[in-house]
Amino acid sequence: MYYNIHTHPHSVSEDVLFIENLYKNFDHEIMGRKVSMGLHPWYLNADYLDEQIINLAENAEKSEVLAIGECGLDKLSSTDWDLQLKAFQLQIKLARNLNKPLIIHCVRAFSEVLAQLKTVNVPVIFHGINNKLSLIQPVIDAGYYLSFGKSLLGGNAAILNTFKITPLEQIFLETDDADIDIREIYKSAAVVKEISEKEIVLQLEKNFLNVFHY
Ligand SMILES: [Zn+2]
Repeated sequence: MYYNIHTHPHSVSEDVLFIENLYKNFDHEIMGRKVSMGLHPWYLNADYLDEQIINLAENAEKSEVLAIGECGLDKLSSTDWDLQLKAFQLQIKLARNLNKPLIIHCVRAFSEVLAQLKTVNVPVIFHGINNKLSLIQPVIDAGYYLSFGKSLLGGNAAILNTFKITPLEQIFLETDDADIDIREIYKSAAVVKEISEKEIVLQLEKNFLNVFHY
């Protein structure tokens, strides 16, 4: 089985288990899908935050919701910083209350995000990693998971080096909204790690079962 932990599904394949990321319409019928749900920093609105958090909390209890997020901090976003912080803190609290993992969106805010996560005791996954190692090393050292996607196909040496150094036990793979097959990313991951694809498949299954309960 292949695992795609962050996507908007384009095609459904029997040997791929995927988590669909929802950032709105939390009350829509989930119908047996596996999802993550959270308030993305790009789409926050101060006038509705309290309502949105209540709505998220009501729906995130469902067993189909495997994780809270993506949520986090983004220094390139035009969203007010204090609003981003407040929304992030409320969702961290929610993840702790529900005992569900957090999927993090982090852009140019690694130290700020890590500071917020200090008291978190649920598994944490930073998604969409496309950074050089010096930025990511503190995330690795903190024991969090890192999810890589299409950047593994791009051939950027610094990103590939980050992937190479990240311990296999802390890795996930994702397609996000790119229209690519997760199996292509597995293939590239195996090449960069210089191990067999089977080894990646088996380790990512272990990681998935360690983090997600469904
Ligand atoms: Zn993101």
